[in-house]
Amino acid sequence: MNPIEEAAWASDVEKCVQCGKCTAGCPSGRQSRLRTRALVQMAYQGYDVTDLKELWDCTTCYNCAERCPKGVNTVDAIIKLRNLAVRRGNFPKVHLNAIENLYNTGNGFPLSPEVAKIRSIIGLNKEPYDVSTDEEELSKVKKLMDITGFLKLVRGAGK
Ligand code: SF4
Ligand code: SF4
Repeated sequence: MNPIEEAAWASDVEKCVQCGKCTAGCPSGRQSRLRTRALVQMAYQGYDVTDLKELWDCTTCYNCAERCPKGVNTVDAIIKLRNLAVRRGNFPKVHLNAIENLYNTGNGFPLSPEVAKIRSIIGLNKEPYDVSTDEEELSKVKKLMDITGFLKLVRGAGK
């Protein structure tokens, strides 16, 4: 069994009866190319899906797993396939940017000047209190990311 098939097996995909409820109930699939059943089935049959963009369209909401009448946990398979994708150098630039932001500011999606302006118009502080405004806490975030090697891993895979 190759690593792709192994990732698919993590979801108990062999119990799948092809009813399609996972794909039909996927909120992300309505807006993207993600087809949950097809993706996991392709992996189950050994096709390399680690370079498919739709692998990253899943929001891990678990709706598919909750709807499955056979208890197939498609999300587990998708997460394992993503892990494999990263190790193979397939990691979307947009996600890498969010992680770089997290490392540098403590916030994956820092406030834009436009949002800061709106906040001040409606009477909120321009900058909400978070890690980005606390040097000590930010250094802890950086240390954690350094120790785990997470940043190094995704930087090597980002493209
Ligand atoms: S967990 Fe992913 S694949 Fe499943 S329904 Fe949510 S977005 Fe779709
Ligand atoms: S909902 Fe479950 S049984 Fe139905 S197609 Fe999806 S994985 Fe297979």
